[in-house]
This record gives sequence, structure tokens and C-alpha cells, in this order.
Amino acid sequence: MSMSSAEIRETFLQFFAERGHQRVPSASMIPGNDPTLLFTNAGMVPFKDVFLGTDKRNYQRATSAQRCLRAGGKHNDLENVGYTARHHTFFEMLGNFSFGDYFKQQAIEFAWQFLTEVLKLPKQKLWVTVFTEDDEAYDIWAKHIGVPEDRISRIGEKDNFWSMGDTGPCGPCSEIFYDHGEDVWGGPPGTAEEDGDRYIEIWNLVFMQYNRQADGHLEPLPNPSIDTGMGLERISAIMQGVHSNYEIDTFQRLISDAAAVIGSDDKSSKSLRVIADHIRSCSFLIVDGVTPSNEGRGYVLRRIIRRAVRHGHLLGANEPFFYKLVDSLVELMGEAYPELAEKAQTIADVLLREEQQFAKTLARGLAILADEVANLSNDVIPGDVVFKLYDTYGFPQDLTADIAREKGLSIDVEGFEKAMNEQRKRAQQASQFGIDYNQQLKTDKKSAFSGYQQVAQESQVI
Ligand code: ATP
Ligand code: MG
Ligand code: MG
Ligand code: MG
Repeated sequence: MSMSSAEIRETFLQFFAERGHQRVPSASMIPGNDPTLLFTNAGMVPFKDVFLGTDKRNYQRATSAQRCLRAGGKHNDLENVGYTARHHTFFEMLGNFSFGDYFKQQAIEFAWQFLTEVLKLPKQKLWVTVFTEDDEAYDIWAKHIGVPEDRISRIGEKDNFWSMGDTGPCGPCSEIFYDHGEDVWGGPPGTAEEDGDRYIEIWNLVFMQYNRQADGHLEPLPNPSIDTGMGLERISAIMQGVHSNYEIDTFQRLISDAAAVIGSDDKSSKSLRVIADHIRSCSFLIVDGVTPSNEGRGYVLRRIIRRAVRHGHLLGANEPFFYKLVDSLVELMGEAYPELAEKAQTIADVLLREEQQFAKTLARGLAILADEVANLSNDVIPGDVVFKLYDTYGFPQDLTADIAREKGLSIDVEGFEKAMNEQRKRAQQASQFGIDYNQQLKTDKKSAFSGYQQVAQESQVI
């Protein structure tokens, strides 16, 4: 049975709606009123206060397909994009939630029924984990559901105690994995080879029981609750008979459209996967009101756009291309997310402006980096080079690190930070003496470049 991503999303929401769950539309990726969190990184985020008992809804069960971003803060998968088959910066999390209503047993029954009866996944391909000390969950899986014990493992806190952030709702969890077969390298959860992509985690059932305080202390929640999350792209890969998320319907289309606008014919290139991933996160960040800037959320957006632009450059793009993918994305996701369709023009405008700005310094920065790399005596790019690229050519530190990684090199993070701090100190000192530091900067740079106009533009692109 093959199903499109859109069909899976709808089937999931209907399954839970039929079982008494209120269908709740996806919230913004910018958490309202939550200074502890950079982005919505899971389906439970919009319900955080309901779990904590400080917000009440007129329902006790909910289901949603929540847009999520994991490109900063506690859950950050930016460095995984292009390297694993299963990570995106932007993805959709399908979830069912119980606010003091049903608990472990019912949550496990629902998940098992959905996977094995509705989606008809073969039971022998499913593996489960529970938190080391959670005998109750172990027994539900082993005795009540009947999963053979050699496919259940007990895992420690790092993977099986889920937390939204450093503070807030948390609890032990139980994860369901799918075995993609022996053609793919990797081992079952809890083994040394678990980081491979053979056994892929598809669904996490979190038994929300605590509120983690700033001092680390776990305060019991007023009502034990359920929070689950299943990545739509990962379950789509299974249902579409492919291994990698990047082979599913949505991504195939984005990848082939990216190849077309860039004029590349290598559809299997990592750069195309990165670009296809990044157009989703960037577009939805703009939908949610973020604009590229030099700090906070805006800087995350800027960093992702610049990574995408650099990958386009790697494929030979010689004019702005990234914004041209907005129309494809709207075709693919505009029905599920009308706000995306409504803001299509704004998104394209913002992306084009940022790409044009970065394009001015990208080639030159890359040439400087290539020179430095050619003259390296070890495999670490020095901090002052990383800083120069950042300060003069607008290369975010992670972008230089990404380029370094492709060449088997790393960057000197400490040295970079030291250079940053020195610049800050210089700026402070300069202002104490009544010198306009910005003016000073421009004048300093002017000598190295061809004209004031260009210098002024370049010093803005950081
Ligand atoms: P992994 O161990 O594979 O990184 P996770 O344990 O960090 O996943 P959870 O925080 O448990 O993920 O999130 C719930 C579900 O969301 C996962 O089971 C997975 O299906 C999906 N998911 C998590 N991170 C990503 C991502 N970066 N891209 C796509 N789907 C994701
Ligand atoms: Mg993860
Ligand atoms: Mg995990
Ligand atoms: Mg997990």
C-alpha cells in the first residue's frame, strides 16, 4: 500500500479524531510567550501550558500535524542535514496528546493499532525501546501487545527521557523503530551501530510526568499526560517503499525542481538535498514572521539561507535560484498550510534579497578560503580566517564549518570566538574615545576594496 504524505497526514488526524481527539491546526514555529525556546521543535510545544496545568482547554485529547524546526536550541539537526537519511531542519510532527486523560497503555495501543492495522506495517519490522526503569511500559509492550522481548530494549536517559528544553515538561518515553532491512548499515537501538540508518526511529511516545525546574529538580505534573510525535517524512518513506526521507514525494519534487532551476543534472547530489530541506525551513520561518538579521531567530534564518545559497553555488548556479523554489513548495504544501500560499510573494522577495546580498561576497570569500586551505599545515582552519570570512564576507561560522567538513577539516572555534571578543573590545574602546566605530570600520575596509559603495554593502552582510 503506497500512500502520499498528504494522505498519511490526513489518515493520522482522522484516526485520532475518531477516537475523541480534537483536531488542532499547526501553530507557528515561533513559540508564543515562551522565552525559553527558540523554535517550536515538537508537536507538544503549543500545549506546553496545558501540560503544566496553567492553561485549560475544553478538550482533554488533541491531535495535530505541527510544523517543527530543529535548527537551534536544544534539538538542533542542522549539521545532520545532507548526512543522514532521516533528519531535516523543518519537518512535520504528527501527534496525539492526552491532558490528564489516558496514559501509557492506551497511548501504546493507539500507536500499535495505527501502525499495524491502519498502515499495515509488518509487525516483525517494528522494534521498541523503553526507559531503563520503566517496567510498566516494558510489560505493556511485552505482555499486552506481544512484541517479542528480543525486539524491546531498555535505554537510558539520553534517548529515552524526553525534554522539550532545559526546563519544562518532560518524562520517560518509549520509541518505535522501523527496520529498513539489511541492505542498509546500522544496528538496533541500544547497540554500538545504532547511529546507522537501518533502524530508523519513527514515533516517540512520551509519558509526560514532570516539569523540570531551572535547578534540574523534577516537579511532578498535576496530571500524568501523553505527548507523542511521529515524523511525517519518516513514516512517508516507509509507506512509499523508500529508505531515505529525501526520496519521498515531497522531496523528489523539490529536488528535481531545484536541479532544474540551477541547471544541475546530478539528482543524487547532497547539495540538492540540502537545498530541498532548506527551502522548507526558510519559507516557513518567513511565513511565521522571521526576517534575516544578525541575531536570534533572524540569524538562524540567515544562516540557513546562506548555506542553501552556497550549495547552489557548488552546483554551478550563476544567478539567484533559491527564491524560485517557493512556487513548487506552495504547490506541494499550500493546501495543508494556507498561510504559506498567502505569503508566497513575501517569501520570494525576502529570499531573493538575502541571496543577492550574499552573492556579492560569496565567491570572493570562497576563493580566500580555498587559498587558506591550500596552505594549511594541519587539518584545522584557524580562528582568524573563520573570523575574517564572517566579518568581511558574511560567512556564518557554521557555514565555514560545513565547507571544512566536506574537505575533512574542522575549524578552530575557540580562536574564532577569541577574534570576535577582541573585535567587541575594540568596539567598546573606540566608543569610549568618542570614535564612531562604524565609520572607522568602513574606512579600514575601504583601503582593501575598490570603492566606498561596495565596502558599505559588504560591511552590512555579516
Ligand atoms: P533521532 O533520534 O532520529 O534524531 P529524536 O529522538 O531526536 O530522533 P524526537 O525528539 O523523539 O526525535 O521526535 C519525535 C519524532 O519526530 C521522531 O521519532 C522522528 O520521527 C521525528 N523527527 C525528529 N527529528 C527529526 C528531524 N530532524 N527530521 C525529521 N523528523 C524528525
Ligand atoms: Mg534527534
Ligand atoms: Mg531518538
Ligand atoms: Mg526520539
